[in-house]
Amino acid sequence: MAGTILFGIDVETANENAVGFTRHGLETFEELGVPVTWYVTGKTLERYPDAFRAAEESDLVELQAHTYDHILLKTILVEVPEGQVVHDSTDFFMKQGASLEEIASDLERCQGVFERVLGRRATALTGPWCYYRGLGDRPDILEIVDRLGFRALRTFGRDERDGQPVPLRWQPRFYRVQGFPHILEILIHDYQDDFYWREFVKPAPDARYVDHLKEVADRVAAEDRVWSLCSHDHGCATREGFEQKGEWYREIVRYAQDLGIRFLPITAYYDEMAAQKAGNAG
Ligand SMILES: [Zn+2]
Repeated sequence: MAGTILFGIDVETANENAVGFTRHGLETFEELGVPVTWYVTGKTLERYPDAFRAAEESDLVELQAHTYDHILLKTILVEVPEGQVVHDSTDFFMKQGASLEEIASDLERCQGVFERVLGRRATALTGPWCYYRGLGDRPDILEIVDRLGFRALRTFGRDERDGQPVPLRWQPRFYRVQGFPHILEILIHDYQDDFYWREFVKPAPDARYVDHLKEVADRVAAEDRVWSLCSHDHGCATREGFEQKGEWYREIVRYAQDLGIRFLPITAYYDEMAAQKAGNAG
């Protein structure tokens, strides 16, 4: 084996960008022939039910949840590196997390939309903005997501300064210590998208995000790592807008395939990890 990529896209805008993504994103992944998981906000799914039902008919696209209204499950406090500007701040940037009551009612509403539109509940959840340690330090929130049926989480997507990149040495693991050994955290590694790479790295104007991604792919293959790779539907209303991302999607997917890296959707990866765990226990 030469590593695994879990490609996940947050389809969250609840406007024409999301619809554009269901068209151009779907076409691109079908052309590439690799599986991808779309984490859709309930609000987006509710607004465009037909477009997402059509996307899920593709064997390559799996739809999972990104909360109903894009609420933060935890507060984030970004410590801006010396001399940098991140989210217009030079020292700290804070964004407050929702209360437990808000989280429970938002996620219930999100599951209700999945049932109405797709006839099933979501089993995987991406936490908006993502957090250091995911929900590892919040067993109270884990209790809520467990009760609502989520089994795979993508909530660990920041480092100890609530910044990025998230290093590959932090690999997926079950929330066993917290008392939820059946809930798996898959993280979001590296930068959460091209715009975050620009925000945190301030690269030279001619630097290409995909060249950075290729270096990550080299490490994934050499060290047989799992890489949870993230992108968004932002700016994807038109074919031209989508191509800002489509170009690097195609280039990194082909590069990774040449290295022998495999692509998995989230439930297949969860099942594999659960079987491995059961095997170890037996
Ligand atoms: Zn999001």
